[in-house]
Amino acid sequence: MTIKQSFGRPVTETDTDIAIVGGGLSGTLAACILGRAGYRVTLIDRHRVIPEEFRVEKIGAEQVAALQRLRLLGSVSAAAVAFDDVVHVHKGSILDRTNGRHFGFRYNKLVSALRAALPANVSLVFGQVNGVQTGASRQRISILGQDEITARLLVLATGIGDILHRDLGISHRSVAEKRSLALGFNLSPIGAKSFRHVALTYHGASDGIDHMNLFPVPGDTRANLFVFRDPRDPWIKSLHESPKDTLAAIFPSLSEAIGDFEIVGAVDSWLSDITIAENCQQDGVVLIGDAFQSSCPATEIGVSRLLMDVERLCTVHIPQWMAASAFDRTKIAAYYGDPQKQESDALALQLAAHRRNLATNTDLRWRTRRQIHFLRRRAVHAVANLSPALAEKLHRLAERHVKSPARSPA
Ligand SMILES: Cc1cc2nc3c(=O)[nH]c(=O)nc-3n(C[C@H](O)[C@H](O)[C@H](O)COP(=O)(O)OP(=O)(O)OC[C@H]3O[C@@H](n4cnc5c(N)ncnc54)[C@H](O)[C@@H]3O)c2cc1C
Repeated sequence: MTIKQSFGRPVTETDTDIAIVGGGLSGTLAACILGRAGYRVTLIDRHRVIPEEFRVEKIGAEQVAALQRLRLLGSVSAAAVAFDDVVHVHKGSILDRTNGRHFGFRYNKLVSALRAALPANVSLVFGQVNGVQTGASRQRISILGQDEITARLLVLATGIGDILHRDLGISHRSVAEKRSLALGFNLSPIGAKSFRHVALTYHGASDGIDHMNLFPVPGDTRANLFVFRDPRDPWIKSLHESPKDTLAAIFPSLSEAIGDFEIVGAVDSWLSDITIAENCQQDGVVLIGDAFQSSCPATEIGVSRLLMDVERLCTVHIPQWMAASAFDRTKIAAYYGDPQKQESDALALQLAAHRRNLATNTDLRWRTRRQIHFLRRRAVHAVANLSPALAEKLHRLAERHVKSPARSPA
């Protein structure tokens, strides 16, 4: 290794094809795909042991399909519990049931399992990246107290609010500030070995409560509750202090639906901003996942958006750039301008606004829309009890008719 002067101090450098800063879900998935494609990849994250942070804990539908397409579902399923049937409840009674493969997991365990499955040509480096210098042909990554890394391409998968972006002049435009609050906790059945349903979604009733998912994760039953309420609302305080009573007040007959229960351990909470990176069309560097655009957790679409970033970047754009040995901003622009990526980014924003309106908006248009939505679901469910074939036809018809916001997993 050559000894070079950089960032004002002598360092040893390691060279790689692609350096990925950020070993959360998006960075680790990208490293898997690029490593399998034969590139020399260095994945850098500040955490050797991933902390138990509250992030996505359940995936389904198109997220499962995308992971399967990318041959990554095996590692995901090893760290998760699979389930298919979800019972939907609204205003104290069953709305309908949906069926499709889902997986429940804890985020840190999932990312650890993916890291364990990284191919041999991916080097995993633990450390805090504290400086980057980028250009059309060479990128320099400085890690606190460690050797410098040089790479042909730099991928930033650093999640929300990383300071490296500032070094590069990348800013984050907030499109929805502190809008939705996600709460996560574990539930245990009382007087029974298990709950009545493996998974259940309880839909809110336009009072700022969006929905609550109950689903299995390894060793526990987990609840994810999504609300659009001011975090200073006394209701939030009472949820932390006496969660069971507070839940009973907003979700009538919850105990009848699942059986008696208690809440075990702490209630995690996360207040979300939606931000989009600006000025990121630069030589030699690309942003993926939340580092590019964060999502409203209530839409449950963050993973779909990041999977689109990872899939388009790693299977379409990087192979072209590598073949042409060109990483200037005009080439990089093709990734940000990718029509499939743009559609997925726009859908995530559209869905965030849609869910907020469904949960909070009391004007006539939204009240009617909400009523029609739940009436239609109840009607199809009633038909399904009489004729499953006819219900399936109605379902397909509705899917074709309803525009994209209905694609939210919730
Ligand atoms: C509460 C909550 C609930 C959610 N629920 C859902 C859901 O139900 N469905 C869904 O689809 N999506 C959901 N999401 C969204 C989803 O969790 C995120 O989109 C996803 O986790 C983003 O992954 P990421 O890899 O981009 O970022 P992160 O997971 O944040 O990873 C970033 C990584 O970068 C590392 N890093 C940052 N800076 C540096 C540095 N300078 N040096 C070294 N390492 C660095 C960090 O250590 C971290 O490991 C939810 C999000 C939240 C917050």
